[in-house]
Amino acid sequence: MTARSNSHVVVIGGGVIGASSAYFLRKAGFRVTLLEKDTLGSGCSHGNCGLVCPSDALPLASPGAVWSTLKTLFKRHNPLYIKPRISPRLWLWLAKFALRCNEKHMLQSAAARMPLLESSLDLYQSLIATEQIECEWQKNGLLYVYKDQAAMDGYQPTDEFLSRHFSLSAKRLDSCALYELEPAVADDVAGGWFYEDDAHLRPDKLMSEWKRVLQHYDVDIRESTEVFKFKRKGLKANGVLTRDGVIEADQFVLAVGAISPRWEKEIGSDIPIQPGKGYSLTFPKPQYSPRIPMIFPQHRVAMTPMMSGYRLGSTMEFSGYDTTINRRRIELLKAGAEPYLREPYGDHVVEQWYGWRPMIYHGIPIIDTSPRMDNVLVATGHNMLGLSMGPATGKLVSEIISGEPTHVSATPYQLLGK
Ligand SMILES: Cc1cc2nc3c(=O)[nH]c(=O)nc-3n(C[C@H](O)[C@H](O)[C@H](O)COP(=O)(O)OP(=O)(O)OC[C@H]3O[C@@H](n4cnc5c(N)ncnc54)[C@H](O)[C@@H]3O)c2cc1C
Repeated sequence: MTARSNSHVVVIGGGVIGASSAYFLRKAGFRVTLLEKDTLGSGCSHGNCGLVCPSDALPLASPGAVWSTLKTLFKRHNPLYIKPRISPRLWLWLAKFALRCNEKHMLQSAAARMPLLESSLDLYQSLIATEQIECEWQKNGLLYVYKDQAAMDGYQPTDEFLSRHFSLSAKRLDSCALYELEPAVADDVAGGWFYEDDAHLRPDKLMSEWKRVLQHYDVDIRESTEVFKFKRKGLKANGVLTRDGVIEADQFVLAVGAISPRWEKEIGSDIPIQPGKGYSLTFPKPQYSPRIPMIFPQHRVAMTPMMSGYRLGSTMEFSGYDTTINRRRIELLKAGAEPYLREPYGDHVVEQWYGWRPMIYHGIPIIDTSPRMDNVLVATGHNMLGLSMGPATGKLVSEIISGEPTHVSATPYQLLGK
């Protein structure tokens, strides 16, 4: 028996970040218990768009973002919605976001996100092969499709920026070339930019496969087990309190996604996250399904053709921890896909869903130990890219806890103010 197999790690939160962390910790030899308040994979990791997309490395906070947001904020069909309310926390978040909307900070955020994105793409491929994970993985690339020529041309500087700083360049396709590659697009789109190396999968299948794999490796998964607080002794936690009593462990990982701010006091640091509510609609696979996923930046909608279905997703709503489904906003997904596709959606909706993205204003995840309890590691704030960054985050979590050299630098992911 190794020293690590005597060491017990409790992972709190069974989303893609918690599940990936549990996997790599178990593979590193730790005894692992995963605690999830509902069922594994039932949070934001369930119905997202399933894109594994290093091409989306640029954060939302980018030059011009404030102005373009203000211009459209009060339009009826705006995919971005901020519920008017008195919330100093939200307004502080928005102010900090606005201060990041410049090229210097955009580059800093993208440079921090890229290693997790690139490493995760590689890790998905090896994990899917070695663990025989059946999640409808397809490496067909990703298309950014534009309706108007001006908007299509407007992407050129972004392509040049990504190419210059990250050697990530897209293929520019005019409408004919785009139609040749993907005949499902409408006749009158202006064209698209194609990132060949991106991939996609079916997120709910990924999560049920994570459950199978974790159980196979004897990770103790306890669903319907909400963690209420840490039990502390000096500078360490020695247990967590649940409905079933205290669960003791040597190390803890807090991976609770958008709900993270509720832990600020116990962690001893700001966790400046807002829930960024997004919706998805899933349909049966259409007869003439597109092969390549697409993002329609002008309408901020994504379309994912999965092997067993077809999904439209997006919208960004800052309305707190709101659990209602707003019919008008979910209809925006359909309206947003209509201009771009011959058959934008079917009649029969299999699932309508919302999730709270863990939105941190600068777009850089937090993967760091608590200043109050040095055996508690926080892994959250993956914004719109948690699925795309899951495996590398899990690996990094395991490396930090093991005290091993890390496969990507952990420096960019420190808690603020540390
Ligand atoms: C519409 C939409 C589309 C998206 N598309 C993409 C995409 O294409 N590609 C991509 O990379 N990302 C995408 N995302 C973002 C991605 O879904 C998230 O970044 C990711 O799921 C966050 O994972 P997580 O594990 O941090 O959070 P979650 O999946 O929310 O997991 C956190 C878990 O913690 C549990 N929990 C909370 N509190 C406790 C507690 N006290 N005790 C026990 N358990 C607790 C919750 O129940 C939950 O299951 C999308 C998001 C949305 C909304």
